[in-house]
Amino acid sequence: MELRRCFRCLVMTPVEEFRLECVCRKCEKKNRKLWNKKNRMKLYEYHKLWRKRNPEKVFAKSKILVATKNGTLIRKTICEICGRYYKSMHGHHRDYNKPLEVIWCCPSCHNKIHNGEIYDTNYQANI
Ligand SMILES: [Zn+2]
Ligand SMILES: [Zn+2]
Ligand SMILES: [Zn+2]
Repeated sequence: MELRRCFRCLVMTPVEEFRLECVCRKCEKKNRKLWNKKNRMKLYEYHKLWRKRNPEKVFAKSKILVATKNGTLIRKTICEICGRYYKSMHGHHRDYNKPLEVIWCCPSCHNKIHNGEIYDTNYQANI
């Protein structure tokens, strides 16, 4: 059996236990966990900052959430931009002062809208 010294834990480990060049599988797993934790914190901080900077968006989003829950607003499953089916459609606000006026669109169209690649009118206009 061929052994290799893990770069991290310095234990001689069978080569089969290496998926990466110099870090054994155990250490790789540990690393990934740590990385996930770090990134989750970062993401969380980022969202917190975002909420602080965009109170009108947070307000509009929460309005949508309440309205779709109590049935005053129906969440569509067909993207109003590209016409594709998507289960948890995004609600895009054209005007955050009108929190209940949304365009239901799939994440990919939503991204494109915010990147300025397509207009948020309807899918005919974008063909
Ligand atoms: Zn190791
Ligand atoms: Zn779409
Ligand atoms: Zn949007």
